[in-house]
Amino acid sequence: MEDIPKAYIKKIIHVDMDAFYASVEQRDNPDLHGKPLAVGGSRERGVVAAASYEARKFGVRSAMPSAIAYRRCPDIIFVKPDFAKYRAISKQIREIFFRYTDLVEPLSLDEAYLDVSENKAGISSASKIARQIRAEIKSETQLNASAGISINKFLAKVASDINKPNGQKTIMPEEVIPFLEQLPINKFFGVGAKTADKMKRLGIHTGRDLKEWDLMLLKQEFGKAGQHYYNIVRGLQQSAVKPFRERKSLGAERTFDHDLKGMKEVLPAFENIFDIWHQRITEQELAGRTISLKMKNQNFETISRSTTLLHPSKDRGDLWSAAKGLLLAEYQGQAIRLMGLSLSNFKKDPQNQATQLTLKF
Ligand SMILES: [Mg+2]
Repeated sequence: MEDIPKAYIKKIIHVDMDAFYASVEQRDNPDLHGKPLAVGGSRERGVVAAASYEARKFGVRSAMPSAIAYRRCPDIIFVKPDFAKYRAISKQIREIFFRYTDLVEPLSLDEAYLDVSENKAGISSASKIARQIRAEIKSETQLNASAGISINKFLAKVASDINKPNGQKTIMPEEVIPFLEQLPINKFFGVGAKTADKMKRLGIHTGRDLKEWDLMLLKQEFGKAGQHYYNIVRGLQQSAVKPFRERKSLGAERTFDHDLKGMKEVLPAFENIFDIWHQRITEQELAGRTISLKMKNQNFETISRSTTLLHPSKDRGDLWSAAKGLLLAEYQGQAIRLMGLSLSNFKKDPQNQATQLTLKF
């Protein structure tokens, strides 16, 4: 059996709340118990931020345009998101993590990596810590969390999905290699649908298939990512759990199944990306000055254009007119395969900024 070098073995937990926003709404409103529910969007427009398990049975997913969600599940109830509430609960959950370790890296309001190799409780079993954390989350917030436990972030993330909802899964060091070998390629975190399709065309269906490819060939096919795939399938990932990660930009982008042609196809797709992007901005309570549009055409040429506002903003109207302005200025009718929007140049607290400006006058 292959041995993974000691330097690559840490005790990492990935905690992921189950259907977070939807579960919070069900917790706080008994009328919603057991009902198919979408947080965000409406029958006509917008995008689903989170779906309850009852709605997922109908194929409703987060980031799905809500009109499609409604078509799939006509009984679905749309609930307006309350991000201030979700942020407060997220903070409450983070405080529970800090009882065990300060090495906490949040991925979003409802997910985080924890490095418990050394921990404040002096517990040697990471699985036991995960069980305790989930029990504390449950008793203090009445919400369910799932967890994955393994030697690195990649494996912990993949593991947290296995016994979801309200479960946990540990992949022990000696189980890592066999686990990765049988893992279907589309379950590899970081391998998107497009890449998974490409791998399948190349005959790569599982970790075992991926491992047969040497580094040079992987780099040839997948560029820089080739090195990453080569490493993770061997259980080699050294990326540390980084607390206090400060964001430099926040974006949303999509690669399309087929190239989009003409404004008639481009605009609805653009609106959908805008909705997802604006939702993320609202979740994170960020305000930024620079809006960037990225488009890739069928020849893989990338166009990137930015515009900078006078003041940082998170206002839907401001961002929409800036983003749409970029699209109208840059789109020349070519076929588009990828489109993305991002916000940068952040000012943490726009209210303070406004106060300062007022004082100057
Ligand atoms: Mg979650």
